[in-house]
Amino acid sequence: MVKNKMTATKKISLRFPRHLVSRPVVYHLIKDFNLELNILKANITSEEGHMVLELKGERADFDKGIEYLTKSGLIIDTLCREVTRNEERCTDCGACVTVCPSSSFTVDPATREVRFEEDKCVVCGMCILSCPSRSMELHF
Ligand code: SF4
Ligand code: SF4
Repeated sequence: MVKNKMTATKKISLRFPRHLVSRPVVYHLIKDFNLELNILKANITSEEGHMVLELKGERADFDKGIEYLTKSGLIIDTLCREVTRNEERCTDCGACVTVCPSSSFTVDPATREVRFEEDKCVVCGMCILSCPSRSMELHF
């Protein structure tokens, strides 16, 4: 069988219960599956952990790494997804501000304009459900 040497780069969003937070999954992804890894975001609450990683490696190693994460009990919420805002649609209503767990939205105190900082987003999708004008969009 010819080994698939194709390189893959993917963003994944992981969710895991608090008792798994201290598991060295990142270490194993690098050491056991030869993956390059970049932690884009990490957010630990009293309920769960949420981490967004960018993984790069050979396709076969990537698939094995994903299998390892799944078998370890981690929930892979998303693969290669990101949330963006359609600025033309946004009415600055503020509905997204209170639902966002990563404080990606802030309200300008002077203008009441709602700002969106994409780099804080952990791709949970809450703002997509709450936005009345459908400004928030999910992309693969
Ligand atoms: S998807 Fe929306 S609510 Fe969730 S973290 Fe990103 S900006 Fe915040
Ligand atoms: S909920 Fe939608 S329309 Fe309202 S401020 Fe947020 S992105 Fe804009």
